[in-house]
Amino acid sequence: MTQTKHNWTKEEILEIYNKPMMELLYDAATIHRENHDPNVVQVSTLLSIKTGGCSEDCGYCPQAARYHTNIEGNDLMSVNQVKAEALRAKESGSSRVCMGAAWRNVKDGPEFDEVLEMVRGINKLDMEVCCTLGMITENQAQRLAEAGLYAYNHNLDSSEEYYKEVISTRGYQDRLDTIENVRKTNVTVCSGGIIGMGENIEDRAGMLVALSTLNPQPESTPINALVAVEGTPMEDEKPVEIWDMIRMVATTRIVMPETQVRLSAGRTEMSREGQAMCFFAGANSIFAGDKLLTTPNPDVNEDMKMFELLGMNPQKPFTKKGQPQTIEAIDSEYQSKGEKPRWTRPAHKIERNEEAKAKAVELRKG
Ligand code: SF4
Repeated sequence: MTQTKHNWTKEEILEIYNKPMMELLYDAATIHRENHDPNVVQVSTLLSIKTGGCSEDCGYCPQAARYHTNIEGNDLMSVNQVKAEALRAKESGSSRVCMGAAWRNVKDGPEFDEVLEMVRGINKLDMEVCCTLGMITENQAQRLAEAGLYAYNHNLDSSEEYYKEVISTRGYQDRLDTIENVRKTNVTVCSGGIIGMGENIEDRAGMLVALSTLNPQPESTPINALVAVEGTPMEDEKPVEIWDMIRMVATTRIVMPETQVRLSAGRTEMSREGQAMCFFAGANSIFAGDKLLTTPNPDVNEDMKMFELLGMNPQKPFTKKGQPQTIEAIDSEYQSKGEKPRWTRPAHKIERNEEAKAKAVELRKG
């Protein structure tokens, strides 16, 4: 096992990122082998349990209500629908279901109670359950833990500096607060980001500083390549070069040796050879299923064929950590505890987000 270091600096990370490619690949693959079985890939299925209509203004996201993106919004799926989807995912080789809801933050009430029921139901199928529901309080994280949640996803998206160019409706500290709330429970942390949003290499390194200096480091880190969706403020961003993706994966593997590094959005644009290079560089997790929330993803059968070709096998559930012990979720003590959300709404504006919003208003009028 490689000793995990928690005081990486931006300069050190940049030095790794900019190494000659063959050296970078060799270092990353060596660390990968010391900490993981290189022939095993964890497969997650991402399920959008509530789509669209989100009040936030994340510049990359077609689910933000303020942009005009032709996304078909949906109310919260039923518990039975979710269980049926989870079963389907299990049968096709997934060990984890990640449920995503387009919410700014979790609100206590009937919808959250239903999500807790979904978590219990999927955990009973002996699958790892992950949720990505926006910001949560410590009490809500605890209730999810008690329902059997295995992981909570909350991405940092980018560096603290570049974050201000992406989102204006919440701050970086809000992200870190949610991660800290999750950390106070036995739920594992999944946090990563997106490349290709117009950030520079320093920002990519800055994001890895923020993630790798968390102690403990996140158990899983998705590395997404932006899928530029028409109508969002980032519609004109150029596709991410495969070499950037490989460098980012390799650097993540080196600075976060024990983390499961996940190839996430943008995989449809990657060849099998490109993905194989990412696996060699330390990626050991993917999202399966034909859709990633709202954007396209490779077909499950195609992924299984790729694994066969590469001699790789899907990871069994609870390989890295045991199945959560479930107890009946307690009633929310949120009010009685006097716990108050401290989430900020920064007052700054991002020009391109405002432009996309104005364009959407015009299109709706027309
Ligand atoms: S990324 Fe999440 S929080 Fe941001 S607009 Fe999309 S659904 Fe809302």
